[in-house]
Amino acid sequence: MASPEISPSPDRPVVTRFAPSPTGNLHIGGARTALYAWVVAEQAKRRVGPFKDHIGGGRFILRFEDTDRARSSTASEKQIAESMLWLGLDWDEGPAIQGIAGHETATGEHGPYRQSERLPLYHQQLDRLRAAGHVYDDDGAVRFKVTQDVTFVDAVYGTVTVKADEIEDFVIMKRKAEGDDLAYPTFHFAVVVDDALMEVTHVIRGVEHLSNTPKHAALYDVLGFDRPLWCHTPSIMNPDGSKMSKRDKAKAARKAADQFGWEDEWLADVGVEGLASKFAAFRAKESDDEEIAKMILMKHGTPIPEIDVTDFISSGYLAWPLLNYLALLGWNPGGDTERLSHDRLIDLFTLDRINKANSRFDRDKLVDFNRQAISDLSIDAFADELDGYPSGVDLSRPKRLVLARAFHERARTLAEPSQAGRFIWSFTEDPGEAAYEPKAVKKWLLKNDAQGLANLERARQALAELDDDFAPEAIEAALNSCVETNGMKNLGSVAQPLRVAVSGTAVTPPIHLTLHLIGKAETLRRIDACLKVFKGTAEASG
Ligand code: GLU
Repeated sequence: MASPEISPSPDRPVVTRFAPSPTGNLHIGGARTALYAWVVAEQAKRRVGPFKDHIGGGRFILRFEDTDRARSSTASEKQIAESMLWLGLDWDEGPAIQGIAGHETATGEHGPYRQSERLPLYHQQLDRLRAAGHVYDDDGAVRFKVTQDVTFVDAVYGTVTVKADEIEDFVIMKRKAEGDDLAYPTFHFAVVVDDALMEVTHVIRGVEHLSNTPKHAALYDVLGFDRPLWCHTPSIMNPDGSKMSKRDKAKAARKAADQFGWEDEWLADVGVEGLASKFAAFRAKESDDEEIAKMILMKHGTPIPEIDVTDFISSGYLAWPLLNYLALLGWNPGGDTERLSHDRLIDLFTLDRINKANSRFDRDKLVDFNRQAISDLSIDAFADELDGYPSGVDLSRPKRLVLARAFHERARTLAEPSQAGRFIWSFTEDPGEAAYEPKAVKKWLLKNDAQGLANLERARQALAELDDDFAPEAIEAALNSCVETNGMKNLGSVAQPLRVAVSGTAVTPPIHLTLHLIGKAETLRRIDACLKVFKGTAEASG
């Protein structure tokens, strides 16, 4: 395949766009498409990569394809815009979106940027087609007459040729709905008119649209517009080969409910109107309601499969490693370069290195990218990122810094510190034996004539003497001197019993940071509660 023209002429702006239908959140596949489109415009702006000699600049457009009126919503528009901005994919031209800082008013000269607001423009082009005899009416709709074979070049899939008689005369204008002034266009017509009038040079989109492209190419030719370069990107699959889709959440929820039971009494506590009937419909497989699926998964402590950008945010991924991973999911720079800086990606990216084969989503690799990115952050920056995790706990900045220190080297996601550190905020008020892991109790409290309990009592005395601010350094010093004065083996002699006392387990972040996060009064309370539960046991068995 001859490599397609990447830029029609060096002084014309390179224009890319992301054109989601606002019928849901931003899917991870959409995010990757948006990334590639954004990168190409960015390369042209910076004059790097394939656009080294390009003087025309670049533009990235956000356009909402809201011709499916029943399923489109402004809430979804806002969600998509927020996800894009979270990923750092800002646009040069786009619609006014209420509640999105910097985009409360439309930007750019090629608007409007919602198809529902562009109806007159489609009708102007329809009139041209009509005048030239390229369309005919059919049941109130308008069809485009296909008369010529079509050949086009796709940057990824190469040259495609389709015979005229294999393309139906397709509808370009729907039948006018009652009460409307103007009929709505179909996707095929709107996308071509918009891309042409917005001077889009590179149409980058999912491979599911490759089979639509002959129709689009035919429209371009008949309307006399310059064709763009088409570039279709492969689909993203789950490791089991199924397509990654929002139905995966419903699938996972059904599996969890099959395993744990479909009882729905707990729904009453959620207190949302109409939930029971939604749940029943979900159970009967009449709906894949995402909110119900998430509730079931959360109820059973089963991880929610991440599909939309918002899912990845709640799971605690950072934007850059996610983008870095997405860039490589379906494209490679050659060689074994994996972790790319922002600038490096923009230097190296080329459309012709996008894979044809579907991409498999490798969560372990993404997690690894994320863990490395977290450990590359300063403690300060990590603490900033931890804001909002755990949700519902109002942690002071100094405490958040300590949490960041405690988990900096080990956290794989932003959600992990608050999950792994859950005991810090909540530990049974009046714990019985069941609140403690039996193995840990035996090994660290009861063994050798309850040596651990004795050490715990000594540690309690040392800690009780500290100031109320319970500084990590002071805790560390107090415990070290407790070990020394009492001739204990090492810090573990007090740290392990303390861990059992405050968390019920033998595994926590460094003990001085852990105790600091719990605070002095609460630490002493937990030690006392633990002593109360196990001193009796020790005496009875001893
Ligand atoms: N609205 C279409 C979609 O969401 C976009 C098609 C295109 O990018 O041309 O799939």
